[in-house]
Amino acid sequence: MPRRIAVLGATGSVGRQALSVADYRGFRVELLTADRTTGELESLARAYRPAAVAMADETAAADLKLRLADTPIRVFAGEEGICRAVEESEAETVVNAISGKAGLLPTLSVLRSGKRLALANKESLVIAGEIVMRTAKDAGAEILPVDSEHSAIFQSLRSGRPTEISRILLTASGGPFFGWSREALAAVTPEQALAHPTWKMGKKITVDSATLMNKGFEVIEAVHLFGVPAEKIEVVVHRESILHSAVEFADRTVIGEFSLPDMRSCVQYAVDYPDRDPSPLPPLDLAALGKLSFAKPDGEAFPLLPLAVRAISLGGAVPAVLNAADEIAVSAFLDRKLSFPGIAEVVETTVSHFEDLRAEHTLDGVLAADRAARAYAESLVEAR
Ligand code: NDP
Repeated sequence: MPRRIAVLGATGSVGRQALSVADYRGFRVELLTADRTTGELESLARAYRPAAVAMADETAAADLKLRLADTPIRVFAGEEGICRAVEESEAETVVNAISGKAGLLPTLSVLRSGKRLALANKESLVIAGEIVMRTAKDAGAEILPVDSEHSAIFQSLRSGRPTEISRILLTASGGPFFGWSREALAAVTPEQALAHPTWKMGKKITVDSATLMNKGFEVIEAVHLFGVPAEKIEVVVHRESILHSAVEFADRTVIGEFSLPDMRSCVQYAVDYPDRDPSPLPPLDLAALGKLSFAKPDGEAFPLLPLAVRAISLGGAVPAVLNAADEIAVSAFLDRKLSFPGIAEVVETTVSHFEDLRAEHTLDGVLAADRAARAYAESLVEAR
């Protein structure tokens, strides 16, 4: 029997790579979702013949339903429709590659229905990490990280027990502006920020990689996934993106995962775990690489990394505020309404405004914090 998977965010960068893994490994694709790119989802639906498709945008879903009227494929609409499609799906593993906060409720639906969650949508853990981890535990559902760093940590942890972890070494490519001063960053354009040196990704995560917000989100993600406090997570800049992260154990042995920077490895591991199956990727040629470099991140030029560590230390709904403000600020930057350093300024001001939300741990509470932080961050952008 082929493995059965669902791909949420199928039209995006990770979603398409997940489908290419499905092609190679012969997985049966049960469900595909997107936001509003109807034509693209229609093509994927005709190619993969899933039992169902879903679109967050209701008008796009209605259009897709007409387009697929000659097929038996069920069409679900809206965020609630995506969640229902997940719950009713016969997929064993759901790859959540939706971008942003929109991935949170589908994450909870996957876990509540007891399916394996192959999680690329780090925002689920940033916004509501405790709720997500508790939901997984209560339902007995597994979370397999797809983010390359967390996949590497997960794999490295198979060499020791969680109680034996002394440090997590979380690697960062450093983004396109590694080594730049705060002054030089003032003139950065969206085009420059979208040119990532090693990874080809969606726009939001590419800008987050340039500001190091993405690395900050990954610290928060690791805290929740591996139950390790932020103080034990050390970010190390590694330009080549070959060592995807490592774990130092109590005896000072460091175990890391090395591979080519290609998200297909991470998706394949998350679906096949605990098995390892052949991959279409070429072998890693260490001698051709020659050497690998490591450096400390610059928290002064890239203040969103230390801010994320502060947000997770405060806890409660503060990380949700961080994420919401960043979604607004990055979108304003891409629309040229905000400068590159303006992203960090809007996020920092919003986080300090909502710092007292540290005691908020309910889903309704974090969603309310998300809404309030978005409105506040938008007002900051408008006022500039
Ligand atoms: P993309 O922007 O390329 O794709 C996003 C996907 O989500 C698209 O299918 C999009 O649909 C869908 N989507 C967007 N908004 C909504 C919404 N409101 N409701 C439902 N679906 C929505 O993003 P990436 O693939 O780059 O990233 C996806 C996630 O994976 C992010 O959380 C990112 O941080 C994480 N990640 C990405 C990596 C990468 O290499 N790209 C690496 C590690 C993690 P549509 O096409 O219709 O807009």
